Amino acid sequence: MKSKILSILLFFVITLGVTAQEDYKDKKNLKETYVNLEKHQVFKLPVEVIPPGTKPRNIILMIADGMGTTQLFAAYTANGGALNITNLPYSGFSTTQSADNYITDSAAGGTALSSGQRTYNGAIAVDMDRKPITTILEIAERNGKATGLVSSSAITHATPASFIAHNISRNNYEEIAADFLKTDIDIFIGGGKSFFEERKDGRNLLDELREKNYLVLDSIRQAPGISKAPMAILTAQKHNPAYPERGNLVQEGTEKAIKVLSQQEKGYFLMVEGSQVDWGGHENNTAYIIKEMLDFDKAVGKALELAAVDGETLIIVTADHETGGMSIESGDFEKGKIRAMYTTTNHTGIMVPVFAVGPGAEHFTGVMKNTDIFYKMLNLFGFDK
Ligand code: MG
Ligand code: ZN
Repeated sequence: MKSKILSILLFFVITLGVTAQEDYKDKKNLKETYVNLEKHQVFKLPVEVIPPGTKPRNIILMIADGMGTTQLFAAYTANGGALNITNLPYSGFSTTQSADNYITDSAAGGTALSSGQRTYNGAIAVDMDRKPITTILEIAERNGKATGLVSSSAITHATPASFIAHNISRNNYEEIAADFLKTDIDIFIGGGKSFFEERKDGRNLLDELREKNYLVLDSIRQAPGISKAPMAILTAQKHNPAYPERGNLVQEGTEKAIKVLSQQEKGYFLMVEGSQVDWGGHENNTAYIIKEMLDFDKAVGKALELAAVDGETLIIVTADHETGGMSIESGDFEKGKIRAMYTTTNHTGIMVPVFAVGPGAEHFTGVMKNTDIFYKMLNLFGFDK
């Protein structure tokens, strides 16, 4: 009897441990009309005079996890008919299917974008045979570029993980955290601190980062004037809270990363993720989705303001998949009002939008596969796989 109770307890402890980063999937569904009262100004992009064929020195890949055209148009409506994203001069669509499923998850979706290979759902930059696949971040680093990751979830969560780690499962957060030490990433900003310091193997990765000369901080505001790499800013033990509770983390993280990376001589690769559009989608929560989309759009605005104007930086905005099967039932540009409906609390298989600006942006038009985005970035950087 005692051992039965113990084993049941153990089961719960293990299950809770594994799903600690997945709590966002259990919240109850809120189906409501959202009215946005805080419209933001969009950045006025100068008209580009970049000759076609120009190669970018820097690439910023911005991923809104779970953003389909509906999430985008809901945010566009809520913001009075204007967004930074929709101002980008080139656009297309990306198909999102994974190697083993019509409906991808964020691990396989992230891996397709990061490494140009479709794999099974749950895989972090490993192929169908569970062998590691080199990512654009690793290739950029190998070729002397500076690299960075910014995320509004834990930095060990599927999307950022698929750029820097290799693991058979997205749930192995501590192993994923350890993979950060195998690279020389110049700056990373996000939650997930506990996976670096409260580990089953007893390692303290924060100390190990310090030994590698990283400045390790809890918040971007601790380093106002500092733009020296390497830097690790771990802003939450697990995930960051939703917007606006977490503050302007994505925007400020984007700014900090660009400032640090642009000091580097040979250019950079930066991935910025707006993680929680997806979580709003899983909850069928219109307000959550739109607030996260608007927060992400402000980060895109920051990237445009700081990097698009240098004529050397390609900025790509896309998603890994759509979440919620969201549809707009009614909307009002003036009132910033949206009423949405949903067909699922999971991901869907539709194409997602791709937007681009800067040298090479002309390649991001028409319908492409998620994996094509990797190859376009690789070719534009002029690197071999
Ligand atoms: Mg994600
Ligand atoms: Zn999801």
